Amino acid sequence: MLDVLIIGAGPVGLACALEAQRKGLRVTIVEKGALVNSIIGYPTNMEFFSTPELLEIGGYPFPVSHYKPLREDALDYYQRVARSENIPLRLYERVLSLRGEQGNFTVTTDKGEIQTRNVIVATGFYDLPNPLDVPGEDLPHVKHYYKEPYEHVGQHVVVIGAKNSSAKAALQLTRAGAQVTLVVRGPEVSPSVKYWIRPDLVNRIAEGRITAHFNTCVTAITPEAVEVRTPDGPLTIPAQFVYALTGYHPDEALLGRLGVEPDPQDEARAPLFDPATHETTQPGVFVAGTVCGGRATSRWFIENGRHHAQLIAAHLAGHAVSLPR
Ligand SMILES: Cc1cc2nc3c(=O)[nH]c(=O)nc-3n(C[C@H](O)[C@H](O)[C@H](O)COP(=O)(O)OP(=O)(O)OC[C@H]3O[C@@H](n4cnc5c(N)ncnc54)[C@H](O)[C@@H]3O)c2cc1C
Repeated sequence: MLDVLIIGAGPVGLACALEAQRKGLRVTIVEKGALVNSIIGYPTNMEFFSTPELLEIGGYPFPVSHYKPLREDALDYYQRVARSENIPLRLYERVLSLRGEQGNFTVTTDKGEIQTRNVIVATGFYDLPNPLDVPGEDLPHVKHYYKEPYEHVGQHVVVIGAKNSSAKAALQLTRAGAQVTLVVRGPEVSPSVKYWIRPDLVNRIAEGRITAHFNTCVTAITPEAVEVRTPDGPLTIPAQFVYALTGYHPDEALLGRLGVEPDPQDEARAPLFDPATHETTQPGVFVAGTVCGGRATSRWFIENGRHHAQLIAAHLAGHAVSLPR
């Protein structure tokens, strides 16, 4: 019987595992994909917004030769930390549901069942894109994850959204030689776009290298075009590829099956939990990392979410009694 099973091997799930293990608890992480799966899905060579010391876990220094770490640096760092701490991992195994009570939970996965006294849910938000809810959204040339520009050179590409991910994708695609049109629901490039990215995009739009349509909604996607409604009427924008970078949300159905209740007072449907311990309304079930923000996916990130690990581990160490292995 484990003391604690952690669902999700992202930076915060790893932080939880190593803090709990250092307190003498018997832990395992179950991860439906690869180790740090979400970061594997980020764009090639993506630069983090945070400086490296703010992404560190377990006191391991994160040395990088430049100011901000790249995706590849972070992958290397978190995977090394997991190895150094000998964190038990069950990769490519998806958690489906939970039954039982604190001290005697059974977690069902797509490969079997695991007994544990406590569960930490650190499942993030990056697996479910926010849908546009328009016809054609499921066509194969419509993507919700941007990787790199090279397959789009010489192509018409429509990027939907005007936050950091869309801004960076639009700039990179343009510089690689794609003809980019940005479709934005609001009146401008989001003011929340980082201060070193926003002027670059605004200036490329001003000089006409990127066409942008503001106050514009997508009404349909066809194999050759994106249909939009602009303030001046309907418009057909040619598109061989479409990036709908309109954000992501946590798997609320999974959270329900794990007994994690949403806060009825919170528009973002964030889980109800005690901020001092991160324990949910179901004793023995904890939430950590970005999943704690519900649909407000920028409420918690690595910088602040990594600290959930110490809170939960300290609480568990006070409560859980580890039996001999
Ligand atoms: C493009 C981009 C750039 C970012 N830059 C920064 C930055 O500079 N600084 C910063 O602090 N934050 C940044 N963030 C946010 C940060 O990456 C996330 O906050 C971070 O990944 C959260 O870690 P986490 O461990 O909570 O969740 P995740 O890293 O998302 O990990 C969740 C894990 O749970 C797994 N999982 C989900 N469901 C199941 C299941 N049913 N069974 C088993 N496993 C499951 C997933 O596969 C995943 O590996 C960025 C995010 C994005 C998208």
